[in-house]
Amino acid sequence: MDELKESDEAIKEVLNKLRENEMRMTPQRILISKTILSMVKDHVTLKDIYDETEKVLPRVGMSTVYNTIKMLESLGIIDTFYVDGKMRVDRTHPHINIFCKNTQAITDIDGSALEKIREVLRDYGLKMDIKKVVIEANCK
Ligand SMILES: [Zn+2]
Repeated sequence: MDELKESDEAIKEVLNKLRENEMRMTPQRILISKTILSMVKDHVTLKDIYDETEKVLPRVGMSTVYNTIKMLESLGIIDTFYVDGKMRVDRTHPHINIFCKNTQAITDIDGSALEKIREVLRDYGLKMDIKKVVIEANCK
């Protein structure tokens, strides 16, 4: 599926969830949501999303962008986590985020590594918050 179609599908999901919760969204918020959803797989920061949103909504406030991110998170559409003091937006499927301290890039890893960590935590009587697993690494 290409990226545009993927974010179109995602925006439909957002609108359905809002309807279920008897919530409404302004056209501005819909536009911001589309921008967030089109960038989410790249683990972008609030600033990245703000810069992109500003191109289509020149007078948008940082707090409106932030609040829209938080709204999408509360609906379970996206996830957020903090790394190096910055909020990153993420997809919600279970995975491990590998944060490279040299390049600041984040790579997703899923599969058996995640299962192993889950098993170890279970032995300690802990339940993993699978959406917020971040491991710091160095590429050099
Ligand atoms: Zn991720």
